[in-house]
Amino acid sequence: MTNAVASPANPSGCDDTEILRERGQRELFCGLTGIVWLHRKIKDAFFLVVGSRTCAHLLQSAAGVMIFAEPRFGTAILDERDLAGMADCNDELDRVVAELLARRPDIRLLFLVGSCPSEVIKLDLGRAASRLDARHAGAVRVLAYSGSGIETSFTQGEDACLAALVPGLAPSRDSELLVVGSMADGVEDQFARLFAAMGIGKVGFLPAREAAAMPTVGPGTRFLLAQPFLAQTARALESRGARRIPAPYPLGVEGTTAWLAAAAAEFGVAPDRLEAAIALPQERGRRALARYRAQLAGKRVFLFPDSQLEIPLARFLTRELGMRVIEAGTPYLHREHLAEERALLSADVRLSEGQDVERQLDRCLAARPDLTVCGLGLANPLEAQGLTTKWSIELLFTPVQGYDQAGDLAELFARPLNRRARLKELVP
Ligand code: SF4
Repeated sequence: MTNAVASPANPSGCDDTEILRERGQRELFCGLTGIVWLHRKIKDAFFLVVGSRTCAHLLQSAAGVMIFAEPRFGTAILDERDLAGMADCNDELDRVVAELLARRPDIRLLFLVGSCPSEVIKLDLGRAASRLDARHAGAVRVLAYSGSGIETSFTQGEDACLAALVPGLAPSRDSELLVVGSMADGVEDQFARLFAAMGIGKVGFLPAREAAAMPTVGPGTRFLLAQPFLAQTARALESRGARRIPAPYPLGVEGTTAWLAAAAAEFGVAPDRLEAAIALPQERGRRALARYRAQLAGKRVFLFPDSQLEIPLARFLTRELGMRVIEAGTPYLHREHLAEERALLSADVRLSEGQDVERQLDRCLAARPDLTVCGLGLANPLEAQGLTTKWSIELLFTPVQGYDQAGDLAELFARPLNRRARLKELVP
């Protein structure tokens, strides 16, 4: 018996690719992981995970190596004692929040982040956030979202967090561009300069770097997604009257150019003005990629479903580096948000949606790819089988969008192959 069925990849008829749909056991991080990059992005926010010791361990092990200052996340651990009643749980939460805010007056935005334990699920964190928001009004905004592994995978935590911000964005009637999705500050600055050079006047970024600087939204807002995993946020923005600009994602030179060109077309930027703005960085990006293309062309890659970046990555790896993607798996395939990516993807890339990890491991081991991109949990067993792996989580921690990062993105795929080659020299 099989739980995998094939279905037409794209109902709009962009291509004839078939998708393998799998609904078996998954090997994915939960949405709490997003806190690791979001707490670095929004500098006066604090993420309070209402969860168990497991949640605390996940955050410490995933983020521990990156903490250089007092962390801006923590865990309110609910244990047996708190099960006595919901009133106790709420009292406990109020006490933890009051202590935290007294100790950290720099916090301007507090996220209560839900998790899996049943006692947390029973707690209405949305209501708790409203209560605490009213209590601490003026000093800090309190919002809630779920990072639970039951409801969210890995990058969906960011989606839930950004969607929670949308109802509080100030209204606007301006014609404006909104870039949606957390990117490194340096990458954001590069894009802000490019949009200015293109003559697009008002540009906002969600999330902003500080709570008080969050962008505005309204019927004149057209937004570009910088990440392909923001379905809930896009819906929330659309409910405020904003409109999405369909585009591929800004990975690699080609993706970045198409992404910027989509904004240019939407805002009536003349083609020569776009060309003048992008010519130099585009050329730098192409030169950086040429070096890696020489090394990586023809290498075979297998992408396990993890970050939802897999389809844009498959497009980048095949079209800009000449690699051969055997399978690109994604936890969820948003037909609309990925239509432009899929239109660029070669039909011989097998797409899979969801996961049945044992079957997928079998396919991967049978294919013996040169490089396997996967989550931390699968990397060690695959390395033990002699495969070379790349942790997909690094794609979220590393600045990879835009022209000047195209070479760094390629380097992420070259590095494990170089490491394997060096090991072979040492231990032939
Ligand atoms: Fe916590 Fe659930 Fe994530 Fe485990 S899967 S760390 S219990 S939120």
